[in-house]
Amino acid sequence: MADDKLVAVKVADIGNQLPNHVSPSQLSSFDRCSLAYWFSSVAGWREPAGLPQIIGTLVHDVLENFLKIKAENRTKEAAWNMLRDTGEVVINNNKSWLTEEDLVTLKDKSAESLKGYFDLEDPTQLEIDLEDLERPVTAIFESVKLYGRLDRMTRDGVVRITDYKTSKRPAPQYLTDSLRQVMLYAAGLKENGLEVGEVELIYLPGRDRVRRPTYKSALDRAVQHLVTTRRKMDSSLTKQTWMANPGSPCKSCAFVKACPAKTAKAPIPGTKESEDLLQTLNLEKRVRSKSSNATSGMEMLPFGEEAQ
Ligand code: SF4
Repeated sequence: MADDKLVAVKVADIGNQLPNHVSPSQLSSFDRCSLAYWFSSVAGWREPAGLPQIIGTLVHDVLENFLKIKAENRTKEAAWNMLRDTGEVVINNNKSWLTEEDLVTLKDKSAESLKGYFDLEDPTQLEIDLEDLERPVTAIFESVKLYGRLDRMTRDGVVRITDYKTSKRPAPQYLTDSLRQVMLYAAGLKENGLEVGEVELIYLPGRDRVRRPTYKSALDRAVQHLVTTRRKMDSSLTKQTWMANPGSPCKSCAFVKACPAKTAKAPIPGTKESEDLLQTLNLEKRVRSKSSNATSGMEMLPFGEEAQ
């Protein structure tokens, strides 16, 4: 975020609602707009998934389940059957708002991602342990808890973390954030005694693969970013002031009408007026887990297991 564009927004005191852990996706969310992070991860308002998220989740689910089957059975036919079956469920779950055009986009883009996958690798040759699919990663750095799930890890001579992307490969300057996320997983695993040799981003529709070796300064930078970001979150919470980033993040933000940086008469976030407004926008609030202040394991997740 460029600091000159940021707008400080005061929020009401809603208590200490900061999640006990930080996931790589939360870091990105905070970096994009910390006020949107506050609405979502602190106040607990659920952002409805848009079409790109739904396509991403569908493709990730299909690839996860596809790689769980025996290597010799990982045929294109099996993958397309899974895409059809899982896609039907996804469409049914979202039929209230998906338009005809959305359906075409969903089918085309998910199929294109799967085709890209088969162009990039031969899944019958891929050796993978089931525990390395959607593997949880937990570590504590300077009393900041990292928790997230990586897409997959392989161990074919080199231990490699892979992250699938259903978008196009971004310009080089925007790769940093995605690489830092996988480097953070590598740092978390290293903390648990497992050395990761490489990280990999696979941009499925464009058939693009980005691989980087892990090295100390990259892991240190990822950890430093985790720790400094958490300190900024703590400071924002204490000051009850969060930085809004009015600009491109607003295009896909569910909180525009309740955001004082974008909507002049929006009430102070966290007040009853703001909560009522968000409810009239049909947004839902997550139920906070009773064990959100526990000190270990999955119990530290604030709203159930939604971290990515
Ligand atoms: S509308 Fe824009 S500035 Fe406001 S919370 Fe959303 S992303 Fe941030």
